Amino acid sequence: RAKSEGPGHTTIFDASMHEEVRERIELEVALRRAIDERQLHVAYQPIVRVRTGVPVGAEALVRWVHPERGAISPAVFIPIAEDAGLIGAIGDLVRRESLRQLGQWRRDGTVGDDFYLSINVSARQLTDRELPLIVSAELLEHGVPARCVALEMTESVLVDPDSTSGRVLFELRELGVQLLIDDFGTGFSSLSYLRRFPVTGVKLDRSFITGLGQSTEDDEIVRAVTAMSYALGLTVIAEGVETRLQRDVLDAIGVTRGQGWLWGPAVPAAEFASHWHVDGAASLHSSLES
Ligand code: C2E
Ligand code: MG
Ligand code: MG
Ligand code: MG
Repeated sequence: RAKSEGPGHTTIFDASMHEEVRERIELEVALRRAIDERQLHVAYQPIVRVRTGVPVGAEALVRWVHPERGAISPAVFIPIAEDAGLIGAIGDLVRRESLRQLGQWRRDGTVGDDFYLSINVSARQLTDRELPLIVSAELLEHGVPARCVALEMTESVLVDPDSTSGRVLFELRELGVQLLIDDFGTGFSSLSYLRRFPVTGVKLDRSFITGLGQSTEDDEIVRAVTAMSYALGLTVIAEGVETRLQRDVLDAIGVTRGQGWLWGPAVPAAEFASHWHVDGAASLHSSLES
């Protein structure tokens, strides 16, 4: 197609393709080094009760600060890590570090007994048969009960319950960890996976939250999806909540848990502890599930 538009276009097309490939290879090399040189860190974003803003948990989100280029978004480097076979190493690092952190927060009283940590896992990690064994050993090591851990995955991994990843999910659920569908509503799979897999909750994608209070359609979609999820006994978490209007609509619909910049972005562990300890710890300890 580029060729039919003339030789000039062909050259530009090739040059930009070449540039893109080069950028990708450079990032892959830099990412390998970042893993070895410990440039990757974990940030924690509060997951709160919509009505009160009191945290009930946190999502662990990986952060990469490149020595020359500064912060690089996980939306950019996670797909590269997946293609390059590096996602296992990154996943291990995030899981180990965040579970260690949760264990410490539980011991020093930063968080209450029911506070939970939500960790993203990608499809590739779930093909590792050893994962349930590794997770259960890490929970023991850090004194974290399985119910205080949620694993977030996209619906694309929920295809065949008899596949390796299907079995891994059942074993993880048997340990007692929660299993959440991330970016719920953006995939194209049949909803039947909700009854074929031991899913415990859904995270409503930000694309459905943005228009709340301004678009009747969005309000009705969230209302219907929430009603269905609660009817199936699932927990519901609204992602990407940025405004009070969105929060008020969520509260009116009955969504009890939310996450978003309205309450706070992902921050380093120390900042999370000082901010949320001071503001939320008292109510955290006495918090009863709503
Ligand atoms: P996600 O799991 O859906 O995480 C939510 C993303 O939304 C995060 O982006 C978070 O910083 C951002 N966010 C939170 N609140 C708001 C808000 O109010 N407004 C807006 N516009 N954005 C908000 P982040 O940290 O850049 O991560 C992007 C994606 O990268 C994640 O989406 C997840 O799919 C992936 N990712 C991040 N950390 C990990 C990890 O440790 N392992 C794996 N496998 N994937 C990860
Ligand atoms: Mg997530
Ligand atoms: Mg999400
Ligand atoms: Mg998302």
